[in-house]
Amino acid sequence: MELKNKRVLVVGLGKSGLAAAHFLKTLGARVTVSDARPATLIAELSELLDQGFMVEAGSHGLLTFRRQDLIVVSPGVPMSTPVLSQVRAMGAHIVGELELGAEYLKGEVVAVTGSNGKTTTTSLIGEILKAAGRPTLVGGNIGRPVTAMVEESTPESWSVLEVSSFQLETVETFKPRIALVLNITPDHLDRHGTFEAYAALKARITEFQTAEDFLILNGEDKETQLIAAKTMAQVYWFSGRRPMKRGAFVHGESILFVPREGAKPEPVMPVAEISLAGAHNVENVLAAVCAARLAGVESETIRAAVREFKAVEHRLEFVREVGDVRYYNDSKATNVDATMKAVEAFAGGIHLILGGKDKGSDYRVLEPFLRERVKTVITIGSAAEKIERQLDGVVKIERAETLQRAVAFAHEAAVAGDTVLLAPACASFDQFENYEQRGRVFKELVQGL
Ligand code: ADP
Repeated sequence: MELKNKRVLVVGLGKSGLAAAHFLKTLGARVTVSDARPATLIAELSELLDQGFMVEAGSHGLLTFRRQDLIVVSPGVPMSTPVLSQVRAMGAHIVGELELGAEYLKGEVVAVTGSNGKTTTTSLIGEILKAAGRPTLVGGNIGRPVTAMVEESTPESWSVLEVSSFQLETVETFKPRIALVLNITPDHLDRHGTFEAYAALKARITEFQTAEDFLILNGEDKETQLIAAKTMAQVYWFSGRRPMKRGAFVHGESILFVPREGAKPEPVMPVAEISLAGAHNVENVLAAVCAARLAGVESETIRAAVREFKAVEHRLEFVREVGDVRYYNDSKATNVDATMKAVEAFAGGIHLILGGKDKGSDYRVLEPFLRERVKTVITIGSAAEKIERQLDGVVKIERAETLQRAVAFAHEAAVAGDTVLLAPACASFDQFENYEQRGRVFKELVQGL
């Protein structure tokens, strides 16, 4: 893509959109930015104008969109947005921020997608590569957007990217050296419509891979298995339950890696040395082990880095023990599968805080886990009524409305040995800015007990 003096439109002024706009300017493009929010709500507006960007605020005008050589969309803006559909039908060239950045990124790329575990696994792979002395950059859907990583990248770099389904909507040539699909369970159905459409997007991470690339899939997840039939890349597997022909798996008390079909399994590390809670985190470690071995990192280095790795904030993060009751912050559990995994990480005696903004989820799938391990469900936010209706008669349910009341109630109800778990299975936007703020508020409330 030669973009000097080309007219480029950036749609959506979130973190990725802003990064893309600045990056495009360094390439010499003539950049317009368009955001549907009114001008008064765009904090960066005057700065953008000062820097010479053309700005459209308050709406997306067809004329603005038609005049461009390239349109770059932020992951927050769906491709189904009417004006995008319209210009796409007219033949406009539309890419996402990830596609734009990845095209200019130097060195090797490891890309991690899946419904859950992306941030944990991406961060862990980053830590392992750093421990191995590789020049490592971590970003994408976490931390820095890809376009903001380009400048620092060199031919020796390893860029580890967290990639969301939203970002995969707009890839054209994205070709990671190592791609991982951790799992595919229902999420974001409010945006993608059907589960099939969402699963198909995840498979796009491997669409442009070739036989020299690697694709790492979950041996226990049917949806990710289906991708194996569609890829040109060399497929490796991970499993917490059974030996795999090639890839990483748990056998007895150890993690093993098989580099080639028929090769002798290499011991990597004892499972007991993982400091993260829950079987799902063992899966994340297995996926990271597989990626790191394929990147050529020695097992001893992997083992040391995994041992050092602590939970990422808001991901089943231990907060505090109050009177023999343990409090965990899993605010990032914004879908039902993540909540299921969080509940499974504890043997029982759980007081579970559920609710927030519903994403079209089916909470009934939680039933067996709730019956087995949860003493009370405490609901908050706008999804409370739906959750209560769907889980009626399954467990004791208490409506708290707010997180503050939920913590107070849990504190009252919990007895020695119990666990209070915020793993809400919902988005946070009805009562909070984002899941981070929700997690921080929870931790402050718990610290105040
Ligand atoms: P993502 O970036 O995909 O959202 P995170 O690592 O931030 O993934 O974790 C999101 C939520 O999912 C957290 O609640 C976490 O405890 C849970 N989780 C992490 N790994 C897995 C996994 N492999 N399967 C299911 N849930 C997971």
